[in-house]
Amino acid sequence: MGNEDDISSAVLGDEGSRGIVDHLHEAVYLTDEDRRIIYWNRAAEEITGYSAEEVVGSHCYDSILNHVDASGLELCTGHCPLAASLSDGERREAHLFLHHKSGHRVPVAVRVSRFVDPVTGEVTGIETFVSDNERNHLMQQLEELGEIAYVDPLTRLPNRRLLEETLESRAQEFQRYGWRYGVAFVDIDHFKGVNDEFGHAAGDAVLGMVARSLSSASRGGDMVGRWGGEEFLVILSHAQLEEVGRAAERMRALVEHSHMLFEGRRISVTVSLGAAAAEPGEGYDQLIERADQAMYASKRSDRNRCTLASA
Ligand code: GH3
Ligand code: MG
Ligand code: MG
Repeated sequence: MGNEDDISSAVLGDEGSRGIVDHLHEAVYLTDEDRRIIYWNRAAEEITGYSAEEVVGSHCYDSILNHVDASGLELCTGHCPLAASLSDGERREAHLFLHHKSGHRVPVAVRVSRFVDPVTGEVTGIETFVSDNERNHLMQQLEELGEIAYVDPLTRLPNRRLLEETLESRAQEFQRYGWRYGVAFVDIDHFKGVNDEFGHAAGDAVLGMVARSLSSASRGGDMVGRWGGEEFLVILSHAQLEEVGRAAERMRALVEHSHMLFEGRRISVTVSLGAAAAEPGEGYDQLIERADQAMYASKRSDRNRCTLASA
């Protein structure tokens, strides 16, 4: 490393060779003043699924990463923390969901700042991000243990059997210790239409996208599983109805803001949800039934919404 050019190519790499920043655990990208991406490291590739080749040269608001917050608010048009830091030089941090190349939303913790070259005055935007998934690693553990009896092969989520065993435990805890729990029943809207229009393989890929976005929106200790077909169930521990409703709304918004490309065509779906919290003396099957009824109420009122079940 003799001169400055050597140092800069060792740090960032050049002409296809990897540099020091490619060895960081954090994803790093740099932009010019107009938020055009000029550098994209290897961790950024791993977290987003997009290679440097695919993103360098485009603007970060060109529907690549499409940051949204937990309420589904699109940040790239108007609320972009990087744009704010580029203009005022303040450092910022945010918890966001970015778009993964395969469609689902990925929770990330983002930090942004600005660099102004003291000699040329050139402005560079700096964004780093790390995966922010609080989700427990239950599924990974199950897979490592070879517990395939509990894993849905298509989505890699807990299957119905594991969901039912978990519900049984939650119901017993509620009875013994008074720990309230809740469920959200999730059904993809007009899913038959996706199969009809794009084919069964695309339908399967959409199931995977929805499964990962639902998991991304869940919190540690909650369980998101596949109930069957295009239906999912979320089990929330220690939760009152309002919290179940808030989680369900987060999931609805995140699925709505997920999209994937299948053979060059954009596919996006919405979900209808029903949220319910367990009542004393109620079996989990009755709880599911109430959540299911609430989900149908969402279907009747135009879909893409969440309905809270009455007790
Ligand atoms: P609604 O908004 O009322 O829920 O309409 P919908 O089309 O989603 O509901 P419907 O129950 O009519 O259709 C569900 C479809 O889901 C039919 C079935 O072929 C499809 N499906 C179920 N499991 C799978 C699967 O594993 N892969 C694929 N590709 N399709 C599936
Ligand atoms: Mg259904
Ligand atoms: Mg459906």
